[in-house]
Amino acid sequence: MTDNNESAEKANIGGDGIRIISATWVLPVTSDPIHKGAVAIEGDVIRAVGPTQRILDEFPAAEVTDFHHSIILPGFVNCHSHLEYAVFRGLLDNENFGPWMIDFLDQKSKLSRGDYEISAMLGASECVSSGITTVGESMYSGTSLTAIGIAGIRARAYQEAFGLDDNKMDDSLAQLKDLLEELEEEKGDLVEIGIFPHATYTVSANYYRAIAELARELGMKFATHLAESEEESKYIRSGSGILALDFREKVGWDYLNHEPFGVTPVKYLQQWQVYGPDFMAVHCVHVNDADIDALARRDVSIAHCPKSNAKLGCGIAPLPAFLRAGIRVGFGTDSPASSNIMDMFGEMRTAIFLHRGAAQDAGVLSAAECVQLATLGGARALGMADRIGSLEPGKQADLIAVDMEYSHFTPIHDPYSSLVYGANQEDVFFTMVAGRPLYTRKVLLTVDDEEIAAKAREVKEKLWR
Ligand SMILES: [Zn+2]
Repeated sequence: MTDNNESAEKANIGGDGIRIISATWVLPVTSDPIHKGAVAIEGDVIRAVGPTQRILDEFPAAEVTDFHHSIILPGFVNCHSHLEYAVFRGLLDNENFGPWMIDFLDQKSKLSRGDYEISAMLGASECVSSGITTVGESMYSGTSLTAIGIAGIRARAYQEAFGLDDNKMDDSLAQLKDLLEELEEEKGDLVEIGIFPHATYTVSANYYRAIAELARELGMKFATHLAESEEESKYIRSGSGILALDFREKVGWDYLNHEPFGVTPVKYLQQWQVYGPDFMAVHCVHVNDADIDALARRDVSIAHCPKSNAKLGCGIAPLPAFLRAGIRVGFGTDSPASSNIMDMFGEMRTAIFLHRGAAQDAGVLSAAECVQLATLGGARALGMADRIGSLEPGKQADLIAVDMEYSHFTPIHDPYSSLVYGANQEDVFFTMVAGRPLYTRKVLLTVDDEEIAAKAREVKEKLWR
């Protein structure tokens, strides 16, 4: 790391209210990489991006921070996460999706709200230090909202909803509405509230339809886990398998009848007026061509979580087919309970290796496409691309810097290649959201990470190994 990085933490602003940061490389994502580039920032907005000398000439009174041998790029957009599950990392590493889901329920019930607050802070601080500036967060306990606010990152915070018993649907819906009102009051300026009906095996068709109506009435975006596992396909198609039996018994839903629907999960959900550009499907591993076509026609976006899907033995979602169909796709780390770390470099690398390996074709995806998916692609999937996802004048100043001083970056032929094949979350040394530095010289400015880590180690003692 260079000495000049020190001046960044002061977050100085020049006499004209402009702050310039420059580096060896700037990747705007929507245009070619700029060698020796700079970004001019005013308040929370990007004013200009271009060659350093041109930017310096344009704003002569600006405060300038030179990051030297680094890459500046838009902050990562993690389309799907569960920050509050950070303390579960490494706990159930070798179980297939069905048994994992059941064992995870046992573990979840052991923690108090206070424990979840600590876990969510652990997750939020990891986001900041790994360059994730926006999360599509699926909230179970609701503690993520506070953590996101303290850490200072941007989010779409989706409230999870569950309910298979239609006799209880009116009550569940009323509770959900009250909760959404509370969340709207609690949320900070950088957070939008959304709704997350959990999955096809935890939410009834009627409840999905009602939630879709509610979301549209409130102007909220919504999302769900969809077609994640073969178990889910089996459950929807034939009403059998672990999700129809053991899981329902575990949750106390074994008194409900379950009709086999004889279709794929994507086809099943299509019948309930759920699909539209305001809806994001997370996973979509077990999909056929007709499913992909149905999602594309309704402009449904997809959160692709390659690492979690592979680790739980679920499979490989057909990302290249999603892209060919013109679907808006972003990467999601999913929960640390399944993917352990929220490292978007790891997601990019896993994606490119899995899809090239599966296709036996090194022409599948490129490093530049992976960075695009991890930034602008995610912004598009969340419906936020008008504000974030690229370094362009008028967009929000959400950006990160990656330190290239290390040997694994030497030499650099192509900055995209270096990021995707060589970088890890530890290489991020600067994170800014809405013009506010949250992390500089690898120091968290909004969170006491040592205190959080110590508390998280205490919470860990409650969990079974
Ligand atoms: Zn998830």
